[in-house]
This record gives sequence, structure tokens and C-alpha cells, in this order.
Amino acid sequence: MAALDGLPPLREVIQTHGLDAKKALGQNFLLDLNITQKVARTAGDLSEATVFEVGPGPGGLTRALLALGAKKVIAVERDSRCLPALAEIAQHYPGRLEVIEGDALKTDFEALAPEGPVKIVANLPYNVGTQLLINWLMPRRWPPFWQSLTLMFQKEVGQRIVAQADDDHYGRLGVLCGWRANAHMAFDLSPQAFTPPPKVTSTVVHLTPKAEPLPCDLARLEKVTQAAFGQRRKMLRASLKPLGGETLLNKAGIDPARRAETLSVAEFCQLANLL
Ligand code: SAM
Repeated sequence: MAALDGLPPLREVIQTHGLDAKKALGQNFLLDLNITQKVARTAGDLSEATVFEVGPGPGGLTRALLALGAKKVIAVERDSRCLPALAEIAQHYPGRLEVIEGDALKTDFEALAPEGPVKIVANLPYNVGTQLLINWLMPRRWPPFWQSLTLMFQKEVGQRIVAQADDDHYGRLGVLCGWRANAHMAFDLSPQAFTPPPKVTSTVVHLTPKAEPLPCDLARLEKVTQAAFGQRRKMLRASLKPLGGETLLNKAGIDPARRAETLSVAEFCQLANLL
């Protein structure tokens, strides 16, 4: 890391500030410069962008984002032990790093968003990652305040995010993401890339917002996907019975003998609009 920005290596930072990883905070740190730069590069050109980072921890990804030219990084960290280490980075990059101590789940990112492009880049704490993604897919206005999301997930969650009809991993998350965003898995990281290593492989997912998602009411879409995937092995005529079953499906021109995982996002939207 020293070669990147002249700041001390991350192992030293962790030792100096006593940042032993806490499992409850999902702390699996990235200490390798090549890897944090690869994550940061996945977000594309950062020179005009304000980057929101969730959970900077000792600052490995933060440093990569700044070294690669992010105009500004606003980082939200819950663990106050990390603040002195992050203050050193802020001092090294005057005016370019703002650290907010707090819970990302309670942070109003939309209200914090400045003028100009916003990109969200994070090695997310796994226990809150999916909820944060869902929050970012449901902002007050669309197109959203962010231009892209570049996020680390457990690989299995990444597969659910990018899944399409007829994929094994297709479910409620895939429909929501497919409705509002274009998503792809950029690359995997083995457990050994992290300190301490998690039990599972991780993956970086990159999402960009669809300019014009199909018109659909989110609450209704959730109602349909919840019913359909709640009993995913059943035919839709049975799983959607509480919502109108066969009558609803016939209105939509969808064969009631089909199963949830065969329906496209467009078909789910159509059902939601008929509710
Ligand atoms: N970005 C660092 C890296 O790549 O090495 C750390 C990533 S670690 C997987 C997740 C980070 O999120 C930790 O620093 C943890 O303290 C922080 N964190 C956990 N829950 C959080 C929350 N609800 N809001 C903000 N930060 C949180």
C-alpha cells in the first residue's frame, strides 16, 4: 500500500489503532492494494464523482478510491475505533474525504448526495448488504441519486442479484434488481483475499439504473413476488391464489400451470399492475 499513496501499510494501521476484526460488524478487511484498486476500478471513471462508501474500516478501499482520483469520498462507518485511521487518510487527501460515524442503514444517502455524479462503492458488511441494496433501489425519485453501485456480496447473494428467469438463483431479489437496474457480476474473490477470511467466496456486483423501468408499483410487485416465490415449487395458480389465482393469471395471459421461476420481470410487473 505504501507505494500507492505513501501512507503506512494497512497491517500496520490495524496494529497501531487496535482494529481487531469484529465478527458482529461483518469486519473482513481487504489489505491488498491490487485488490482494492480492482474493486475501485470496477466503478469506472471517478474523477468527477462523489463516492459514497459504506464501512471504510481501516481504509483500504477508501485509499484506492482516492488514489484513483475520486473527486470526493463520503464514508459512513459504524465502528468508532476506525475514525483515527480514517482521519489520517483525510489529512493525506485534504478536502477529499469526509467520514460520517453512524449506521448506514439509518443514513439518508439521498439527502447527502451533492450535485454531480454519485457512485456507491463498498465492501459491504454482509449482515446489512442486501437491505442497503434494496434501499438504494427504492429511492424517493427515479432515476436515482446514484449513477452506479459497485458492491461486494457473498457470491450466493451476487448470483441472486443478477439472476434472470429460469436461473436457479432467480427470486424476489432478482426481480427487484432486474426491474430497476442492469446488474452483472464483475469478479469473484476467494476467502483468502480478506483478513480474517470469511467462510464463503465473495463477488463484486456492478449495477447501473435503468433509465425507464417498466411502470409498476413497488408494493404490488413485492406482493406478487412474495406470494409466487414463497411457494416456488407450486404452480402459479396455487401460489397466487390469495391474489386472484387463475383469474389474475388469465387476465395477464399467463399459463396458470407455470411456476414463479419461469416468469420474466416484465410478466411480474404485468401481474402487479393487474392486482
Ligand atoms: N472497507 C473495508 C475493507 O474493504 O477492508 C472494510 C470492509 S468490512 C467487510 C465492513 C465494514 O463495515 C467494517 O468496517 C464495519 O465496521 C462496517 N460496518 C458494519 N456495519 C455497518 C453499518 N451498519 N453501517 C456502517 N458501517 C458498518
